[in-house]
Amino acid sequence: MLPSEREVVDAVAKDLYIGGKWRKSSDSKRFRVEDPSTKEVIAEVADATPDDALAALEAAADAQRSWGRTAPRVRAELLRRAFELTLQRQEELALLMTLEMGKPLAESRGEVLYAAEFLRWFSEEAVRIKGDYYMGPEGSMKILTQRQPVGPSYLITPWNFPLAMATRKLGPALAAGCTAIVKPAELTPLTMAAFFEILIEVGLPDGVVNLIHTSDPAAVTKPLLSDRRLRKLSFTGSTEVGRLLMAQASNNLLRLSMELGGNAPLIVFDDADIEKAVQGAALAKLRNTGEACTSANRIFVQRGVAEEFSEALKSRFESLKVGRGTEEGVDVGPLVEQAAVDKVSRLVADARERGAKIVAGGGSFGPGYFFEPTIVLGVDPSFAIANEEIFGPVAALYVFDEEQEVVDMANSTPYGLVAYLFTENLNRALRVVERLETGMVGVNQGLVSNAAGPFGGVKQSGFGREGGFEGIEEYLYVKYAAINAA
Ligand code: NAD
Repeated sequence: MLPSEREVVDAVAKDLYIGGKWRKSSDSKRFRVEDPSTKEVIAEVADATPDDALAALEAAADAQRSWGRTAPRVRAELLRRAFELTLQRQEELALLMTLEMGKPLAESRGEVLYAAEFLRWFSEEAVRIKGDYYMGPEGSMKILTQRQPVGPSYLITPWNFPLAMATRKLGPALAAGCTAIVKPAELTPLTMAAFFEILIEVGLPDGVVNLIHTSDPAAVTKPLLSDRRLRKLSFTGSTEVGRLLMAQASNNLLRLSMELGGNAPLIVFDDADIEKAVQGAALAKLRNTGEACTSANRIFVQRGVAEEFSEALKSRFESLKVGRGTEEGVDVGPLVEQAAVDKVSRLVADARERGAKIVAGGGSFGPGYFFEPTIVLGVDPSFAIANEEIFGPVAALYVFDEEQEVVDMANSTPYGLVAYLFTENLNRALRVVERLETGMVGVNQGLVSNAAGPFGGVKQSGFGREGGFEGIEEYLYVKYAAINAA
């Protein structure tokens, strides 16, 4: 690590933040954080025990009553200030993110902006929480509805977007008047710790936000989910863990939001603007080194443009520089850990053995967890690469003939998060958008994420929406009063 990088890492708090204080874990243990581009250990952070998690819940439960009653304008202004400070600290947050997660600095800076937008959007939503008042049909009573905060919320986030996945939850939770416990992924705790320093600086009351890091998320989470003081779990991560947590949360009947895995199709019709399609596919595939739930996992190209498209995508992929995310000019960073390299290598090897052709990249290299941007041609829907999340910079290309055929192939996955389509025919675009079984569709663009849009999936990609007008509803419940009108 460069001395300037060391300085930024050293400045970040490495403890747990509970009830308004930084504290060590109750058994004083710590766990290591690694730079995936060098495998160097860059920091050690406090490793929470189940007792620490319960202490965080106690703090959140104690703070709930007064936080839930603060004026919406006060909550809005605190979030607005957090938005401004996040922009001011963009460089420091981006560097931490690149060091612990690997993505190129330009992408980390982009994530900081994206993450900050949730704070701005929900600062604006905090003052627009609405109710209603109307006459019942019999004319004998009036109906009054109001929205109230759900209560203490447990927010679990993944490592691939260490900041945005948390602000997408914290923004609406705080705007709605809920207190929170945040548990970042164990691979990327530092970015969230730096963000907590911002939340502390804006002056959130003690206990409103709490931070627990842990190397054993299962042990720490179980007692929280069965504690009656907890009212909500919002989880972003794999479908497998989501399903497990849903089962654990059932005894407590917790309100749930589940943002889970994806297997996004990207469809290029022969009437598409091919330049736009190549640009969109490269973005949807390589953003975040392909480590995104929204990553284009299956790229379907209509026969008439298949060759032109794959040639153009190949030259795009081959022009990219892979390296440490802090280096100038790097387009693609390392994968996050060895297990990710092993998985991507297995999927590519399996496709090759079954007769697919590797036309670009295909290999991994060190000293970190690097994998070349790769294109696999001639993939069949029965291959493992078509059915598992690749989570790496590998584009799997399929050729199709008919519109209905590709819609059927796109939908033939248990997942339903996002799909992308490229066509210049408006009728076709609207028809296909309607037929795709996903929560989101990108039309002639490879990116759907926006704080003002409701992000979320269907089928095994989960339920609940983050961002948009819907995002705050996840943290509110509707109370109805029946008022005698006689
Ligand atoms: P993961 O499910 O392994 O981990 C996610 C989080 O859950 C981490 O904080 C982890 O510590 C925690 N966790 C793991 N096991 C747990 C357990 N038994 N009990 C409690 N917590 C536990 O997923 P990941 O590898 O960190 O992230 C990648 C996955 O996340 C992919 O499947 C990706 O598609 C998905 N994802 C989805 C979205 C979305 O919005 N739909 C966004 C980003 C990532």
